[in-house]
Formats: sequence, structure tokens, C-alpha cells
Amino acid sequence: MRYSSLMIKTNKEAHEFDSVNATLLQKGGFIERTMAGVYTYLPLGWRVLNKIENIIREEMDKVGTEMLMPALAPRQLWQQTGRQDIDILFMASGANEASIKKNNASYIINPSHEEIITPIAQKIKTSYKDLPFAVYQIQTKFRNEERPKSGLLRGREFRMKDLYSFHATEEDMLDFYEKVKSVYVKIFDRLGIGADTFITQATGGDFTANFSHEFQTICESGEDTVYIDKQAHKAYNKEIVDQEVDKANFCASRTCEVGNIFPLGTKYSEAVGYTYTDQQGKQQPVVMASYGIGSSRVMGVLVEKFNDENGIIWPAQVAPFQIHGVVLNMDNKGTVTQGERVLQQLEENEIEVLWDDRSGVSAGKKLAEADLIGIPWRVVVSKKTGEQVEVKQRKATETKLINLEELVGQVNK
Ligand code: ATP
Ligand code: MG
Repeated sequence: MRYSSLMIKTNKEAHEFDSVNATLLQKGGFIERTMAGVYTYLPLGWRVLNKIENIIREEMDKVGTEMLMPALAPRQLWQQTGRQDIDILFMASGANEASIKKNNASYIINPSHEEIITPIAQKIKTSYKDLPFAVYQIQTKFRNEERPKSGLLRGREFRMKDLYSFHATEEDMLDFYEKVKSVYVKIFDRLGIGADTFITQATGGDFTANFSHEFQTICESGEDTVYIDKQAHKAYNKEIVDQEVDKANFCASRTCEVGNIFPLGTKYSEAVGYTYTDQQGKQQPVVMASYGIGSSRVMGVLVEKFNDENGIIWPAQVAPFQIHGVVLNMDNKGTVTQGERVLQQLEENEIEVLWDDRSGVSAGKKLAEADLIGIPWRVVVSKKTGEQVEVKQRKATETKLINLEELVGQVNK
């Protein structure tokens, strides 16, 4: 992809926001703040978010089937479960007289989807033979947060993967719950934050009277504090520690909640009267669980954790491109031709390349932007590189001249 299609503001003045991720993602042209807690994903940012969500999707496909639920819901669904009064609910209604005249209804804008999926499951899956099953979606959620802050860490509109599972018995649900837990461990490993992410015992919040498990990632700008048992690689949140555990044995750490899983039991099925017919022909309540991952928050956490004074350092698996190509000396015809040849060869090898062939932009500025954007490999074509290219990995200080074939091999390794 050529630089010209990216919507990057190259003259952006240094502006510091309230967190590293907000600053670097906006300076680097990944996201643009539309209003407090609401961001646009520009082409670069959208690529990163998609890579994160595709990793989540690949792992989720092992335990559930993907679908998509609506953002709008009738208020009645939220009344049915008693969650109509939770303090983060948004409502949508006609914005002007003409619109209200056409339809004066108002709707809940979903902050989560237990209310939507449960009555659907109730219509379709009614026998013990239909259980267990699990469905998930990756979608935008809306919550009226009091204080949106820290860029992608806390928004009023954000992305979430949510999985819902349905079971005949509590035992079967808990079995599956453990399976999903290990899938979550795999996901955070693949996203590059496994070592710093701790399964944390927590209370159930608005979702369930039971316990729940949070996935908490060590992160200075996170809003949570958990008590970590490093040896066992698990943690307890403050509420649990206050009730049950001796604080002295754990090390307190600032963290950010990247995921949360809830053994819901029969709270939602009972609220809507969702039962299944058992083998004896009797009606039994369906046992449920739900499982969230904040995919846009993960993107923010990755930037908080992987950066230096020059910019972002993306883990290769979520980087927007594999190579950031920079053509210098664009006033030299030979260099321009050589640049085109290199780009073409990289693309023929199916390498994802961001290609900076702007003329009239200084070498210093181009190289600084490459560091800011944080793609794993930087490749320079200039008057000096001849038939070779000059390469540097994002964290390295040394550059070296290599042949294109060698570069392709290294990048694909
Ligand atoms: P928090 O305690 O941070 O407010 P929560 O416990 O209310 O989050 P859940 O209902 O458990 O959030 O949602 C599942 C996941 O969605 C969270 O683990 C988090 O990763 C993400 N998430 C929740 N709220 C936000 C938000 N306002 N902005 C970005 N991501 C969020
Ligand atoms: Mg939570």
C-alpha cells in the first residue's frame, strides 16, 4: 500500500494526550478522536484492529460459531432481565421532529448481548439434543462511561468479542468454561501479552451473582489493581482479596482488564423463561455462561506496553504491515525506478508493504515516521543502496545492506 492512501497527517505537531496509546496512535495516524471516548479507525489502525480480531476469531472458531447481533434493541428485552437501570445504558431515538414523526420509538444501544442472544436461543434450541452450543460475535459496544480516558483503554464506543454458551447442566457449563479459559490463554499468548496477563478471580458485576474471571494485563496506565501470585501465574482482584486472601503473600500491580468470563448459571434463562426438554420430557432451565474480550482495548494495551521514545513497536503478528519501505532521493530517476522494482518484488512475494515514495519530504522525517508507526522491518532504497536494500528491524540500532531475496526470507521467517 502506498503512503498516499493512508490519511496520515505528516505535519502533525507534537501533541501529548493523557496516555501513551492515545498519543502514539494519533500521532502515527492510526486513529482519530471523533469525540471523548469515540475514535475513528483510520486505514492503518483498522488493519491493526483487524489483525487482533482475526487472531481472536481463529481461536474462537475452536469453541463457537460466529454470528452478528444488532446494536439496537427494544427496551423490553432489558426490562425482562432487570438490567434496564444499569448506569451505562445508552438510548437511541429520533433526533429531530421529522424523524420522530416517522417513528417515535426509542431503543437501547446494546452494551452487551445476553439480552439479545437468550431469547433467540430460546426459539431455536429447545431440546437436550440441541445442547450444548456456543456462538460469538465481534462487534461494537456502547456504554455511557462516566469518564472515557486513556485512548482506546476506556471508550464510550468500543470493540468487543463476546461468546455465549448454553448447557443442560452446571457441570457441563463449568467444563466448557475451563476450556474457554485455556483458549483465552492461547489468544493472549498469540497477541504477545501472555506472560503479563493473569487470570484473576473477581466478583460477577452486573452479570451474575457468582464469581467471574478477569484477564488482567500488567499496564501502568490501567485502572485496576490486582494481587498477583507470580508463581501460580494467577491473581485476585481487590474485592476478593479484601474478603478472602492474605494480601501479604501477593504483589500488587497496576493492570488493565482485557477480558472477562462469567459463569452466568440460570440468571438470564430464568429471566426470559428459557428451558429445554430433558430426556424424561421435563422442562429444565438452560445453564449459560458469557465471555468477553475487549479487542480495541487490547490494541491500546499493546501500544502502552510496546513502545520507546521514538514510537510504537508492534509485535509482528498485529503490525499493520510487515515492511515499511522508504524511498529516499526521489529527485533521482534511478532511485525511483529501483524503488518501484523493489516494491513490485516484495508484493509478488505477498509481503505486506507500506511504501513511502513521497517526494519533497526529508529523509529525517520519513525515517522518524517509520519509527513512530512501528512496523517490524524498515527497508530503505536510496542513491547509496544500488541493487541491494538497507534494512533495519524496529528495535535495532544498526542497519545493513542485503539482497532482496535474503530480505524476503528473513521477513517470512
Ligand atoms: P471495566 O471494569 O474496565 O469497566 P467491565 O468489567 O465493565 O470493564 P466487561 O463487561 O467485563 O467490562 O466487558 C468485557 C471486556 O470489554 C472487558 O474485559 C474489557 O476488555 C472490554 N471493555 C469494557 N468496557 C470497555 C470500555 N469502556 N472501553 C474499552 N473496552 C472495554
Ligand atoms: Mg469486566
